Amino acid sequence: MMKLFDAHCHLQDSRILSKTPQLIKAAQDSGVVNFAVNGVCEQDWLSVKQLSITHPSVLPSFGLHPWYVTERSPNWFNKLKEYFDSTPSAAVGEIGLDKGSHGKKIDFSEQVEVLRQQLELAKELNKPASVHCVRAYGDLLELMKSLLIGSCWRQMHPTRYQSRT
Ligand SMILES: [Zn+2]
Repeated sequence: MMKLFDAHCHLQDSRILSKTPQLIKAAQDSGVVNFAVNGVCEQDWLSVKQLSITHPSVLPSFGLHPWYVTERSPNWFNKLKEYFDSTPSAAVGEIGLDKGSHGKKIDFSEQVEVLRQQLELAKELNKPASVHCVRAYGDLLELMKSLLIGSCWRQMHPTRYQSRT
């Protein structure tokens, strides 16, 4: 059977959480070996973490999604860092920018600031990030260039080059 990797899902979503064990089992029976489960707000990070403990096939990601930027607590960033401290295998996500029908209701400069903090953290901790982007590709590229390309890309290219030689 072909092995598959679900690179982006939200199995912690409260609308399906009670069925998540059956969903994981059914997907595994069809060849899905891992699930990258993305947290989107402070309230669901614990569920993501618990799923990764009960189901070793779940790879946890913690992040603050642009849709939930206005609901964040004053302590959200420290809380996020604590999740990474206690779950070293976790990735960053889902984070991003959204100027779509839902996202445009949320202050864009706040979205950018929240994303910037999380991308900087991903860079500092050397973690992959799962990025959501709707109608904001120019802004996203600008932010990623200012934060990442200067150092990360310069570091990545020699590594790739060396591994080929
Ligand atoms: Zn998503």
